[in-house]
Amino acid sequence: MPELPEVDAAAGVLRAVANGKIVASIQRLHRVHRRLLPPAAVRRLIGAQITGIERRGKHQLIRLGDGSTLHVHFRMTGDWEPGLTRDPLPAYARVVINFTDGSRVVLTDPRALSTLTWHAPGVDPLPGLGLDATDPAFTAEVLGRALSKRRIAIKPALLDQRVVAGLGNIYATEALWLARIDPRCPAASLDRRELSRLVKAIRRVLAKGEPWSVYDREGKRCPRCGATIKRITQAGRSTYWCSECHLTTCRPR
Ligand SMILES: [Zn+2]
Repeated sequence: MPELPEVDAAAGVLRAVANGKIVASIQRLHRVHRRLLPPAAVRRLIGAQITGIERRGKHQLIRLGDGSTLHVHFRMTGDWEPGLTRDPLPAYARVVINFTDGSRVVLTDPRALSTLTWHAPGVDPLPGLGLDATDPAFTAEVLGRALSKRRIAIKPALLDQRVVAGLGNIYATEALWLARIDPRCPAASLDRRELSRLVKAIRRVLAKGEPWSVYDREGKRCPRCGATIKRITQAGRSTYWCSECHLTTCRPR
């Protein structure tokens, strides 16, 4: 599944190929996208200029000259493939956006779970989305406030995009290990120092990427203390952690 750094890279690809261009036509090649992007939306897009590409969390927002927005979410396997309108279509092409200069960008997606929707001017496509994990305004205080009313463990709370936007299972797992926080701690129990360590760790793991220290390494040695990495399931997702070298004193739930 593409996580924040991959989506950020994809948004960069899209920006390079699409920014400032004018939409000539749109092909919706999958029934899901024909439903999500009805003919009325397609009509609004033809002739529109793309004025900017933003990434918020794992979402991409394509801003159009008339103030409307195309919202793209890759989900599991979405990606952009830039090219020319005359090129043969790549495998798993789902939506093609052709530009008036003969270039195009194709939304490819083997599992066809990605979404692309149009939003009228003035409509926020992402109401309630938390601050982006890479936003300088995302601080220990902000995270503490967002977690204060969550009655779940810190690991699943970090996956809630209303708490912080952009963290997936891998980065949440790695950040908790790096911050030496027991993933089972109640989200609202983290103190100031733990919150501060966690925010720093989130920034570091997002900047570093692979190789992972604990993710998918059940039974291997903890790179910090040498104990055996464990795997637990929280809210249906695997968490990998080391029970020996965390620094939390919470009562896990
Ligand atoms: Zn350890």
